Amino acid sequence: MPAVPALSYSSYRTYQECPLRWKFLYVDKLPEAPRGYFTFGRVIHSVLEELVAPLVVPTARRAGENERQRTLDEWHARPGEPSPTRWMTADELLATYDRAWSSEGYTSPEEESRYRALGRELLLRYYEFLVRDRPLPVAVEEHLEARWDGIPVHGYIDRIDRTPTGGLEIVDYKTSRELSNDDARESDQLSLYQVLVESNYAEPVHGLTLYHLRSLTPLRAAPRERAALAGLHDRMGTVIDGIRAEAFEPAPGRHCARCDFRDRCPEFRTVPPAEGERLRMLVDRFETLRAEEGRLENELRRTAEELHRAAEQLGVHRVPGTRSVAVRRREEAWQYSLDHVRPLLEQSGLSGRVSSGTPEEVRRLVRDPDVDPELRRKVAETGARRVKWYWELEDGPSES
Ligand code: SF4
Repeated sequence: MPAVPALSYSSYRTYQECPLRWKFLYVDKLPEAPRGYFTFGRVIHSVLEELVAPLVVPTARRAGENERQRTLDEWHARPGEPSPTRWMTADELLATYDRAWSSEGYTSPEEESRYRALGRELLLRYYEFLVRDRPLPVAVEEHLEARWDGIPVHGYIDRIDRTPTGGLEIVDYKTSRELSNDDARESDQLSLYQVLVESNYAEPVHGLTLYHLRSLTPLRAAPRERAALAGLHDRMGTVIDGIRAEAFEPAPGRHCARCDFRDRCPEFRTVPPAEGERLRMLVDRFETLRAEEGRLENELRRTAEELHRAAEQLGVHRVPGTRSVAVRRREEAWQYSLDHVRPLLEQSGLSGRVSSGTPEEVRRLVRDPDVDPELRRKVAETGARRVKWYWELEDGPSES
């Protein structure tokens, strides 16, 4: 069994989208071609990290399980401790941006210069906003790990702020074009970050924010309820189970258009010319047999129906042919409406008696002499008996 690496949000999403692509990336460690919009996002994140880092107490890491995280103001208020680093000016911010800039992955010089201008504008506007409305971060670009009920998880969190209510707010910067409040409310990424922060910090998470940098809009959501986190835990558990079982089947879809591994993927690989003719004949034969199979199934059904009608009219169950005897068999099954059965059992405190809801389970209850006869009668009335007739062949013509 392969060692399962800790799941990040993007690794979890990749496996969900296509297990084979996950294998190419995380097992085979194949590189992907750089893309301009990823490079852009990376550069903006690194500049924002440098910008906000001086606002974080350098020694603010958790010193003890129950110790509250300090903001810079709280730390600064302590006598005898050195002054915090000065916050950078707008010119220094732009110089940092120029140093961090990378041309990787842009499709043309025009595209690169468009992105570069967008980055300058976006950083300056956000800088002005931050100067006016300074956050109280306790961590920036923090790598957190946890074991979430058996699932190893990790993630880099852009920023963790102290809220006025004394809790923590998780902030994730987004450079994408469009973003809505629903994105923040439904983001699995923010849910996972909540788990990571709750596992590593003593203080509660009071808010989750996707920060849309292009419009300077914080899209805020309340912390997830336990039920929502349990849903994500189930989904991540399914992914971990798949990785442990080495289930790496391709899952083709629209996402294939941006996959760098199409030449290695069986969904896109073409048949070698030397094998083309042999495989073409196999496919043609398969197609013919498939059509024949459908025609035979229809004919078999029609013949059985005609035999059944004739046997009904004559009142016989055994019909001799030339080589074998057709014998009519009967199959019977009870079906119950669980929508009616369950309330009846709940009223009598017996809901545990029908846990799986199978008809056999209900039949056992109806037959159980220890159960109140009136209840058994009511449950029995919700059922219907279904009888199915079918024909089998036995050896040799019968004497009859
Ligand atoms: S091409 Fe599509 S199906 Fe194949 S590995 Fe890539 S994403 Fe998966």
